[in-house]
Amino acid sequence: MKSTRQNAPTAPRHPLLLTLLVSVWLVALPNLPLWRQLTQLPEVTGLRGLLFGLGLAVGIAALTHALLSLLNWRWLLKPVLTLFLLSAASGAYFMWSYGIVIDDPMIVNLIQTDPREATDLLNWRMLLALGLLGVLPTWWLWRQPVRALGWTRRAGGNLLSFTASLAVLVVSLLLIYQDFASVMRNHGMLRYLINPLNSFYAIGHVMAEPLDRETQQVLPIGEDARLVLPQGQPPATLIVVLGETARAGNFGINGYERDTTPRLAREDIVSLRNAWSCGTSTAASLPCMFSHLGKAAFEQRSANHESLVDVLHRAGLAVLWVDNQSGCKGVCERVPHLSTAERKLSPHCDGGECHDEVMLQELEQQIAELPAERRARGTVVFMHQMGSHGPAYHKRVPSAFKRFTPECASNALQECDRQQVVNAYDNTIAYTDHFLAETIGWLKKRPGPTAMVYVADHGESLGENNLYLHGLPYLIAPDVQKRVPWITWVSPAFEQQRGLRKSCLQAQQDRRVDHDHYFHSVLGMAGVRASEYRPQLDLYGSCMAP
Ligand SMILES: [Zn+2]
Repeated sequence: MKSTRQNAPTAPRHPLLLTLLVSVWLVALPNLPLWRQLTQLPEVTGLRGLLFGLGLAVGIAALTHALLSLLNWRWLLKPVLTLFLLSAASGAYFMWSYGIVIDDPMIVNLIQTDPREATDLLNWRMLLALGLLGVLPTWWLWRQPVRALGWTRRAGGNLLSFTASLAVLVVSLLLIYQDFASVMRNHGMLRYLINPLNSFYAIGHVMAEPLDRETQQVLPIGEDARLVLPQGQPPATLIVVLGETARAGNFGINGYERDTTPRLAREDIVSLRNAWSCGTSTAASLPCMFSHLGKAAFEQRSANHESLVDVLHRAGLAVLWVDNQSGCKGVCERVPHLSTAERKLSPHCDGGECHDEVMLQELEQQIAELPAERRARGTVVFMHQMGSHGPAYHKRVPSAFKRFTPECASNALQECDRQQVVNAYDNTIAYTDHFLAETIGWLKKRPGPTAMVYVADHGESLGENNLYLHGLPYLIAPDVQKRVPWITWVSPAFEQQRGLRKSCLQAQQDRRVDHDHYFHSVLGMAGVRASEYRPQLDLYGSCMAP
C-alpha cells in the first residue's frame, strides 16, 4: 500500500513559515507607495540610499512579523493573515492612486462615507489591484495545509519568534539609525505609508479617542445668546452656503486664468481671497468651523460642544439646515434639518445624486414651516453643498453646464490626462458659480434684508506632484487643499439696516483669514451675541456701524 502522502499537494507547513511569507509579501508589494515615495527623497540616493531602504524594509517586515507571531493561534492565524492581506491591498491602491496617506482623519472619513460616495470610488483598476494584491495571496493562503502543533509548543514558538523579530527590528534600525532619524524628522508622513500597520494604527487611535474625550454629552454653548438688532426692524434672511472641496485659486473672481465664475463676477459680492481652512477633510473641517473654539483649541478639546447652529437657534432665530451631502457631522442635530436624499423625484436629481440647485427648489415652503415667532426675528438657512466632491467631479454638474471639455469622466483620476481632470473640476466650480448666483437671485426676491455667506470646508489636489483629492495631514498638505473661497453678498436693505460698509470689507480681500473667524463672523452677520462671541474674530462686525 503506497502512502497517501504522495498524493497530498504539499506537506503541511509550519504556521510561522506562513506568517514569515506574508510579512515579506506585505513589505514588498503593498508597500510600493512607501518605496516610491522613498526614491523621491533627496536624502535617499546611491548605495547608501539603497542600504537605507533595505534596512527599513527588513525593519518593517520584522515589526509586522512580531505582531503576527503574537496572533499565531490555530483558528486565528488564517483570518488574521487574510485581514492583513486585504487591508494592505486596499490601502496600497488608495495610496498609490491618489497619493494619500492613511491617518486618523482618513479613517474618520471612511467611517462617515455614505454609499453614494463609496460607489464613486469603485472602478476596474481598483478591483484589479485588490484582486492581485489581496485576493490572490489570500486564495493561496487558504489552500496551504498548516501543521498541527500542541498548545505549549505553539506558545513557545510564538514567543521565540516574537523575540527574534523584535531583535531583527532593533538591529536593522540601529544599522540605519542616522539616516532613519533624519528622514523621519524631515518626512514624518512616511510613517502613514507603512502598510497595513498605518490603517490598524489609525483605526485603533480613532476607536480609543472616545476614552479620552467625553462624547456621551454635548456641552451647551450660547446659553445667553440674544439678538442685538433694534426693535421693529423687518426680519432678515441669511443663507449660509457651506461649500465642498472648493479651492479658492480656481475661482475666476479670485484671479484664476479661466473664467469659472462669470455670474458671481456680475454680482456686487466681496471675495476674501486669502482664507484658510481648519482641516483638509469634511470630517476635520466642518465641526471645527462650527465650533467657537478655533482650530488649536478645537483639536485639543476634552469635551464636545454645541455648534454655531445651536447658538443661532438659542437666540430665537428660525434656523434650518438643508443637506445635499453626507450629513452635517453632528452640528445640526438639534435644529430642523432635512436631506435632499429624500427628494429623488426632483428634476435636479438623477440616479441617487442631486445637483445643488435642488436645495433652492422648495426652500420657500420649508422656511414657511418653521415657527412663526422665530421667523418674525429672522431666518438663517444653512445649505451644505455637494459642490466639487471628488473623484467623480463629472457627476456633480448637469450636462448643460459642462463648459470645459474634454473632461475626465472616470473616477480613476490618474487614468485621465491631467488637463481633463482640471476641466472636470473647473466645471464643478462653474456650476457652484451658477448655484450661488441662483441663491443670490432667490434672496433678491425675498422681502426684507437678505445676505449670503459662502465658505468651503477645504480645497483639493488636482494631480500636482501626483497628489489627488484631499485629506493629507494639515502640516504636510499642499496649500491647494487648505485655501478656501469666502464670498459675501448683502442686499442694499441689509447694508442699510446693519450699516455694513462694503468698501471696508473689500479692503480686507487679501488679508489672511481662516475658519477661526467663521463662527464669530456668522454670528455677527446674524446680529447675535453670546458669551462665546469674540468681536476681534468677526470679519463683518468691524465693518458695521456700532
Ligand atoms: Zn469636504
